[in-house]
Amino acid sequence: MTRIVSIGECMIEMAPLDSAGTYRMGFAGDTFNTAWYLAKLLEDRAQVDYFTAVGTDPVSDQMLAFLNSENIRTASILRRPDRTLGMYMIQLQDGERSFSYWREQSAARTLAQSPHDLTNALQGADIAYFSGITLAILSDWDRRTLMRSLQLFSACGGEIVFDPNLRPKLWPDMDKMRHAIMDAACLSDIVLPSHEDEATWFGDASPLDTAERYAKEGACTVIVKNGPGEILMLDDRAISHFLPNPVANVVDTTAAGDSFNAGFLASRIAGKSVEHSVETAAKLAARVVSSRGALVADAVQPSNLRI
Ligand code: ADP
Repeated sequence: MTRIVSIGECMIEMAPLDSAGTYRMGFAGDTFNTAWYLAKLLEDRAQVDYFTAVGTDPVSDQMLAFLNSENIRTASILRRPDRTLGMYMIQLQDGERSFSYWREQSAARTLAQSPHDLTNALQGADIAYFSGITLAILSDWDRRTLMRSLQLFSACGGEIVFDPNLRPKLWPDMDKMRHAIMDAACLSDIVLPSHEDEATWFGDASPLDTAERYAKEGACTVIVKNGPGEILMLDDRAISHFLPNPVANVVDTTAAGDSFNAGFLASRIAGKSVEHSVETAAKLAARVVSSRGALVADAVQPSNLRI
């Protein structure tokens, strides 16, 4: 059975239920969203672990209970008595969503303080999945610790999958972000960027530029997402394209990329080709953008999507 470890931060999500100030609490975060979709899609064909750090308070317990109930293993998650979960709040104004974050002191920021913890989390895993947000929340020192642990994991035959998920607001400066992202890409077998972000922050003129920049660092497979636009696949130096079916009514693009990544990986783990996996991923992401919220249970119903 394939074992996947997703590494990063899962936050408390406060989402508005009405305009009178009623909110619903949930849990979300890019690498967690992908883990959630992977667990749903693969069921007993894979074991999905989440690796992060949380507090020892009741809301942290609640998050772990939620992960377990969703079939995501939490055995290696670190507990920090002096910290708690990060949080974000969604606000609706004239139909537009805006986000406020409280995550500067979150427990997840301490996830890579010890190489021993990382080795323990990755022990026996086949795939490590992480993102540019995972990198952004770490100190320089801890980021290097994570990189070294992943290097070791790769040297022992582990596969590394990376979504650059560029978030300039989380970085002190753009050069630091660009360097950290490219360092991570150097270690990665599969890179899953989104062209719009890459064009803005790396100046790529086309999805092919994005793919080639990451492939040059050593990634064997690069899948360049592009919103509703054509997806570019660069696999083993061969280039191909896939145009997703247009979604007539886009409701909420939250987790489009995260669910896409899970659809792609789940399909690859099930032994499907890169082309077939991209098609599956696009189908899943299309359903996710057609509904509100990051975790769209309907989108992963076997009647809607088969891996
Ligand atoms: P991210 O959420 O990481 O920025 P994208 O916006 O590129 O990623 O979207 C990821 C994937 O979601 C796309 O490759 C596509 O398959 C799907 N997607 C996103 N927006 C749309 C849309 N408007 N219509 C159809 N598919 C979409």
